[in-house]
Amino acid sequence: MLEIPDVIKGILILICVFIPLEKLLVLHKQNLLREGWLTDLCYYFSGYFIGKGTTQILIVFALLSQGSIPILSSFVSQQPLSLQVVVSILIGDLSFYFAHRLLHTVPWLWQFHAIHHSSTHIDWLATVRVHPFEQIFTKACQMIPLYWLGFSAEALAIYAIFSSVIAFFVHANIRIQFPVLKWLIATPEFHHWHHDRDPKISNTNFAVQLPIIDYIFGTWYMPQGEIPTKYGSKLNIQNNYFNHLIYPFKSIRNRFKVKIHTTRE
Ligand SMILES: [Zn+2]
Ligand SMILES: [Zn+2]
Repeated sequence: MLEIPDVIKGILILICVFIPLEKLLVLHKQNLLREGWLTDLCYYFSGYFIGKGTTQILIVFALLSQGSIPILSSFVSQQPLSLQVVVSILIGDLSFYFAHRLLHTVPWLWQFHAIHHSSTHIDWLATVRVHPFEQIFTKACQMIPLYWLGFSAEALAIYAIFSSVIAFFVHANIRIQFPVLKWLIATPEFHHWHHDRDPKISNTNFAVQLPIIDYIFGTWYMPQGEIPTKYGSKLNIQNNYFNHLIYPFKSIRNRFKVKIHTTRE
């Protein structure tokens, strides 16, 4: 019998879960095939394989670099699975938080991250709009500390599933309120503000799983009873997958040219 590849199974599951959910609990009314859907579909397929390849390379790197401390890693791997999962989420999201802040503050890194912020419609499919460089960068920042600390393969597998599920959930175009849970776990209400068109607002809510991290570092933003009305960024990035891929390199080269030009004057 013909086996359905995992990449196809994945998109079918996402379609079956999120399309009815977004219909039922819609936050912003928009067409199913909204602007940029085809571009984002290209990201889904390319990102799937880039993600798999990156994981394998990072595991080899972690093994070869021997960054782990044997006593610490044997202590970590002997802890109960549930504790390992909770601590891996905490360390993984803390690493992501700082990597994400760097993406917003270092000008050349922002050129790559600007692609994720170029979506003018935020929904489950917008999750995957991440430049391959950023995908590799953030994955390395999140996973290398976890590999070095020696979390078990089961704990890391659960962490990977949890990370994917929450990433799609926080982008979903759904209006749902979690009075207590919103403090513990990231929700669409939390992450949608990070995609606000106003840079003062989008420079908040950098964590992607644990809002408490933003609260501790003073970057938490979730005004009661309000929702973002305009998503995207002021950059004029054309909605085309290949244009997205070269955009950061083009803009870094242009900035570099301007710099040389002004220093010569
Ligand atoms: Zn961001
Ligand atoms: Zn996002």
